[in-house]
Amino acid sequence: MIKEGLYEFVEGAGPVEPFLGKYAVKTPQIFERVREGWARVGLDPSSVYLPMRVEMELTTKCNDTCGHCGMGALPLAEGRTLTDKQIRYLLDQFESIALPSLAITGGEPFTAWRALLATIEGARERRIDISKLTTNGAWGTPGRCGPVFERLEKAGFLDSRLFVPLLMLSIGEQSTPLEHVARILRHAVSSYTGRELNVAVSSLADPADREHRLDQLITVYESAYGEFPHDRVHSTMRVYLTNDRLDGQEEVRRPGHTPVSKWMDRCFDCFAPTVGAYVLPTSLLKQSGDWYTCAAFNVPEKLAFGNLLRERARDVIGYANRSAYVAKVRQGRGLKALHDVVPRSFTETTGCTSFCDSCTLLIDRFDEATGETTGRSAPVPLIPVAALLSRANSPTGKAS
Ligand code: SF4
Ligand code: SF4
Repeated sequence: MIKEGLYEFVEGAGPVEPFLGKYAVKTPQIFERVREGWARVGLDPSSVYLPMRVEMELTTKCNDTCGHCGMGALPLAEGRTLTDKQIRYLLDQFESIALPSLAITGGEPFTAWRALLATIEGARERRIDISKLTTNGAWGTPGRCGPVFERLEKAGFLDSRLFVPLLMLSIGEQSTPLEHVARILRHAVSSYTGRELNVAVSSLADPADREHRLDQLITVYESAYGEFPHDRVHSTMRVYLTNDRLDGQEEVRRPGHTPVSKWMDRCFDCFAPTVGAYVLPTSLLKQSGDWYTCAAFNVPEKLAFGNLLRERARDVIGYANRSAYVAKVRQGRGLKALHDVVPRSFTETTGCTSFCDSCTLLIDRFDEATGETTGRSAPVPLIPVAALLSRANSPTGKAS
């Protein structure tokens, strides 16, 4: 298995090698190409924050019921999927900010099959790459696996310009039989080269025992198809995180007590343009339209800067760029930048369970110390989609 974190290419830190890493790119000039796009649509390419990718929650519906679901997915009868109009509107907004790539997630995106195909087709028309598609693999049955791949291909899943698309299979607590997951992997690696399609297995474990299901998957694969394609399959092995946004999530039993200062010192640069191992900066777009500056599972509510179903993308990005916290983290290359604002008497004596939990604590302390108000949680009036469409089509950006 190809371990997560390999082949990290950060802008300004050496050359980019194409076709390497989980989020491989197709050109060594990736950052130049992306910056040209931003300049073309009138964005300042030297802005503190411009997303290389949006992680879009297409639906909150899921056929599964994982206790630690980090996405807050809902049963099929209760979840909601973006409508066709909303998908078109969002894609127009993404095009207006020259968004290079989109990651499609849920819920389970394949429970919203028509919306999934509409998103892939619409992104292709607007020259936005699909750099990741996440699934629990429930469609990997003998009857569905091949036809689903064919339809994805026809919709344009593989027609990316800058990024090699990635199919991410989640096998944490999911109830999908591993035979289905193995069949999807087999089809992917035997039908497409690594330059056409990347595949990854994401295996989250309970932090109390850290047991992952990867070994079981390899056994199932090898009993059906022979040697596991270790050289093609990227792995993401993490543990479940507590997510304050989600009321119904099972509590995470995480041993240990790590001070905030240690998380800060090990934090990577969340907002530096990066490809290969990760795509950064990545925004999170919830099905409700709420938009966050990063796609961490447990992203702090204060990193929400607006709602893309109610506001223009470039306005929301403008709010993020005016955030003193975002600028501080970007300019100081990660959370360690906050040592000169938040005293060590706090960071060395306060514990938490992850980088992003420390981020939540630090934002509050940062706001206290600086008098800033990070985020933009004030409610804004709901604008009907019809008005948004006419506004998106207007050259001035104003409703006509
Ligand atoms: S399959 Fe994924 S989205 Fe669905 S409940 Fe499990 S973790 Fe959540
Ligand atoms: S540390 Fe903060 S900015 Fe970085 S990924 Fe986590 S929540 Fe996002």
